[in-house]
Amino acid sequence: MPWTYDTSNIFARILRGEIPNKTVLETADTLAFHDIRPQAPVHVLVIPKGAYVDFAHFAAEATEAEIADFHRTCARVCEMLGVNGDGFRAITNAGAHGHQEVPHYHLHILAGRPLGPMLVRPA
Ligand code: AMP
Repeated sequence: MPWTYDTSNIFARILRGEIPNKTVLETADTLAFHDIRPQAPVHVLVIPKGAYVDFAHFAAEATEAEIADFHRTCARVCEMLGVNGDGFRAITNAGAHGHQEVPHYHLHILAGRPLGPMLVRPA
């Protein structure tokens, strides 16, 4: 599938330094920062620095080094924030049904309270 990356998305602007972020951890290929509208006491977003639209794009076209760095950064963030003991949830949204708002691949790391069941069914 051909992916089209929108360079005006908000995470691309963060990566270009055009808008600020609260960085948790930065590596050569990956940036982790606090979500601006946290849904839990810990809510961190981890993004690759490369221009990937979503999970499928990243998995298909990122280098092995980018993929390894991304996942190791996620694990280091969990370690740094001390969430491994009580646990956490890692979520990625993709496309319209996934309700993805920002078209740059990102993993949400949520923790700090019991998060309940994964999905609440509509009434
Ligand atoms: P998603 O719906 O999975 O695309 O999630 C996008 C996330 O980006 C949401 O949780 C937003 O609160 C978050 N977000 C949007 N703009 C910013 C920003 N400038 N800094 C940090 N997080 C942001």
